[in-house]
Amino acid sequence: MNIEQLTGQSETRLQELFPGHFLHEQVIEPYRMLVELAAKAGLDLRLASGFRSFDQQLAIWNAKASGARPVLDDHGKTLVMDDLSDIDKVRSILRWSALPGASRHHWGTDIDVWDAGAVNEDYQLQLVSEEYAPDGVFQGLNQWLREVTASGGSSFYRPYEIDRGGIAPEPWHLSYRSVAEGFEGALDQLQLRKVLENTDILFKQTILDNLDEIYHGYVRIGH
Ligand SMILES: [Zn+2]
Repeated sequence: MNIEQLTGQSETRLQELFPGHFLHEQVIEPYRMLVELAAKAGLDLRLASGFRSFDQQLAIWNAKASGARPVLDDHGKTLVMDDLSDIDKVRSILRWSALPGASRHHWGTDIDVWDAGAVNEDYQLQLVSEEYAPDGVFQGLNQWLREVTASGGSSFYRPYEIDRGGIAPEPWHLSYRSVAEGFEGALDQLQLRKVLENTDILFKQTILDNLDEIYHGYVRIGH
């Protein structure tokens, strides 16, 4: 496993699930099994996002950092960024968006899922906490995911199930544990620093000056 694979700059070992959507080759079959299992529970489980490249994550980051795309608060409302210090702006973006190079979606092992059976055909998926809340449209999916991951009924788990204060809870985010584990421990802070130093990323100096906090608070969560 090299730095390119760890940071979403390589398509080695990825396989196309359907046009434009890639997963790690070892995750294709488990994903299909998860869809089947969900169908038995009456859910139409769909993929919102699988593999995401470094450049895609960088585009998201820079759009949020420049104000071209809204940064959301914990309730899915647009956050006013103007009065925040640079490090607080960075923390606000990190609450919902991974640092390019440090997204679990770079590995092809992690997926965001929703339930097409719970909404109309023209539903605009947002992936916000309200949708997965007890009175939200995907509460059934959320409940099922809680049960199936807790019972060991699936090889996927939810790394962002609880709020550790850094990354907001993401009930829609699943990780294929056995392959993801290999990636998880492999990216060290120095490698990440080198990648970021060579990247045209907004708030670069603030990120580099605070990389230790960011790495432990938002990258190596739970370690
Ligand atoms: Zn995700």
